[in-house]
Amino acid sequence: VQVIGLDIGGTSVKGMIVTSSGSIQAEFKQHTNILEGREGILQSAFSVVDTLLSKIGHNEQSPVIQGIGIGSAGRIDPVSGNVVFATENLPGWQGTQLKQTFEERYRLPVSVDNDANTALVGELWRNTSISLNKKQGVVMLTLGTGVGGANVMNGQLVTGSHYQGGEWGHIILVPGGRECNCGKYGCLEQYLSGTALITAVNKATGRSYTNGSSIFEDFTKQDKTVEPIIHQFIYYLAIMLENISTSIDPKYILLGGGVLDSKDHWWHLLEQQLHTFETKAQVLPAMVKNQAGMYGAASQIINILREKKVSIDETT
Ligand SMILES: [Zn+2]
Repeated sequence: VQVIGLDIGGTSVKGMIVTSSGSIQAEFKQHTNILEGREGILQSAFSVVDTLLSKIGHNEQSPVIQGIGIGSAGRIDPVSGNVVFATENLPGWQGTQLKQTFEERYRLPVSVDNDANTALVGELWRNTSISLNKKQGVVMLTLGTGVGGANVMNGQLVTGSHYQGGEWGHIILVPGGRECNCGKYGCLEQYLSGTALITAVNKATGRSYTNGSSIFEDFTKQDKTVEPIIHQFIYYLAIMLENISTSIDPKYILLGGGVLDSKDHWWHLLEQQLHTFETKAQVLPAMVKNQAGMYGAASQIINILREKKVSIDETT
């Protein structure tokens, strides 16, 4: 079986064709057109799918692809496939009937879930040692443009009654703190996203860093203006991990997202802090990185196809 795994974010839409054994047949990505709201975002997503379908020679007369799995930013009802809530990172996205729109356009089965959920599912698919223990609980926290999160307990995703299960980015870390684009104040995302880190360092130093790697390089050179910001960042991150460990009590907490690209500069400090807290969960960097969301979305539609007993040719 061959399916498309699609990952819709505020910066880019990424897609790949993958087989049920996890082999990637084609990949394509495009900048997300957020300037024209919902229509623009949909056009970006369609364009990625159209390109992948033409690469593999799929059409309605001779279908090659059997389904499309979608992971999207925002809160998603995985049953209806609707976007229940989205911030201005994806303007106009809230209320989009994503599953129905894709099913009508491509005449294929479609699954939809939150992008952090698909990232965790993808990580579990490709990371066998973690997957073997998934019944004991795995939490994922992604520190990128925003902060995403997902929880797997008893081997299953916990989406919750308002589809916000695992939305660690919007728990309040600092009461009355920085304003968040979700309408609250002091959300974790305003302190632990890569974007928030760059903003905080630029404000404190008067410099204009554009990426985390140069910040962490200066940190490693013991730059006195950068140091306290990074220490604060690590402290907040450790508090969060300790809180997750105590509340959910998973075996593993996986850290992903762009901030992890610089982990060699700060991982030892995080471990020291976690040691001080006596944090019980094992905190590890995610392995699959940028492709996890696409793998997870693909895995979800493959499982749905299996349940529907669609004939599966394992040799493809
Ligand atoms: Zn928030």
